[in-house]
Amino acid sequence: MKFNFTSIFAFAKKIINPQRGCIGNALRESEEMCKLLFECSPVGLSITDFTGKILSINKRALKIFGYKKEEILSITSKNFYVNPNDREVIIQKINNGEKIHNLKIKMKRKEGKLIDVEINISPIKFNNEKHLLSVFDDITNRKIAEKKILQLSRGLEQSPAMVTITDTDGIIEYSNPKVTEITGYTAEELLGKNVNILQSGQTSKETYEELWDTILQGKVWKGEILNKKKNGELYWDSEIIAPIIDNEGNIINFITIREDITEKKKMTEELIKAKDKAEEMNRLKSNFLANMSHELRTPLIGIMGFSEILKDSIKESELKEYASMVYEGGNRLLETLNLILNFSKIESEKIKIDPSQIDVVAFIKRIVNLFDKEASMKNLYLNFESKLEKLILEIDEKMLKDILINLLNNAIKFTKKGGVTIKVSKTKENKFFEICVIDTGIGIPKKRQHLIWLEFRQVSEGSSRLFEGSGLGLTITKKFINMLGGEINLESEVDVGSTFIVSLPIQEKTVNQTSEIVTDSTNTY
Ligand code: ADP
Repeated sequence: MKFNFTSIFAFAKKIINPQRGCIGNALRESEEMCKLLFECSPVGLSITDFTGKILSINKRALKIFGYKKEEILSITSKNFYVNPNDREVIIQKINNGEKIHNLKIKMKRKEGKLIDVEINISPIKFNNEKHLLSVFDDITNRKIAEKKILQLSRGLEQSPAMVTITDTDGIIEYSNPKVTEITGYTAEELLGKNVNILQSGQTSKETYEELWDTILQGKVWKGEILNKKKNGELYWDSEIIAPIIDNEGNIINFITIREDITEKKKMTEELIKAKDKAEEMNRLKSNFLANMSHELRTPLIGIMGFSEILKDSIKESELKEYASMVYEGGNRLLETLNLILNFSKIESEKIKIDPSQIDVVAFIKRIVNLFDKEASMKNLYLNFESKLEKLILEIDEKMLKDILINLLNNAIKFTKKGGVTIKVSKTKENKFFEICVIDTGIGIPKKRQHLIWLEFRQVSEGSSRLFEGSGLGLTITKKFINMLGGEINLESEVDVGSTFIVSLPIQEKTVNQTSEIVTDSTNTY
């Protein structure tokens, strides 16, 4: 027998109301069956008087409220109400001839737990007395499920992405408002149509074949498709299509989540074009710099050669000084040209590492010695300290030389008093060897320290520029160190000095290394 809420209600009223003829006449013999039906009804049934005294209650009702049959005698229906006032209101309504039909209220179980109950109450006459017949059901789980469904449907309706649900043949069963907003088709227009209504005709057959193959296998398909709006305008969709699978593992629907990526695609294309253009410009710049410095170097070498001869051979002191100035100026120009040349080579990735085995300790010492004269001319000390007597490494000699020359040049340039110390050591695990170039110069403010590694940038720039230079030395230095697998760090304090720490890896191949503390002051002024 099929039960539903209303039929049970009507039937229960018949059972207890002899005037309607159920027990009185035709169904007298079926009294037992009626009792059984009352007892076994899938909804809760109770008969109470107007004070709440429970005259009869079925199994389901006891289960809903968590009581045992024998406990019912000691309670009234008031025990089921969370708020006693709820019952008063209901009784009042019934007394006013109103029906309590499908009322949803919170009620209370024996242990105090609140449940959602749907209740129908109507007055009945029984033994010539007025009673109340209540038919109710616990709808707590239904309410939770309804809430979940509401959440999900609201989520779909308000989703910022386009959502379509189709059957397994691609017939649209649902589309959310975003689909309408983007495509121009209303949900009604799409309902029942094949999803190919959105096709632009410009996506390859293979793409659709691959798409259907994937989703029919129960897998998720992701991709970008050029679709068409109702007004014929084409637009790009990023799509995720997933099968919806039932408890038996059958595919029952497909859900498609789409995002209109037309603008994003346009922007990406523009960015790629701009990047290509910027790279092309950069290549041109590097080529230009490389060509110009080559062109300038050739005559410059001549100027320097002859000015050197002149400054050494001219006796007259004023002219000799002029020749020296030409020579010094040329030297500076040559240094700058070399930096530009190196920089453009790095930019165009034309620099290759050319390693050879050298004793780096002796090598660094030799380079430091080259700065003796410059340091002494500024009355600065120049110290070389090494914890190693010898360290043979496979390294690009030219790169190491340029790194040291840049750092030493800067250290002396930016130091007015005190001097420069170069310390060489190995790290604890013997993985790196460190070269520290320590000066007692002007230092670099914390806020500007990040700038010094950037091409053409200096601490003092523009009209307030205090020192000459191209701003390329440290850019190249850092790039060379990185190419050699190492890193450079800076510790600096204004008016105290700067320490540049270069860490270079000690490779496996390194041979014949001995550690010994050697402190060698090559020059102290
Ligand atoms: P530049 O040719 O201008 O010296 P670098 O790239 O070698 O270019 O250095 C960038 C800037 O970093 C310098 O202009 C200077 O402001 C700062 N700098 C570099 N080394 C030192 C140092 N030892 N002491 C103080 N400032 C320094």
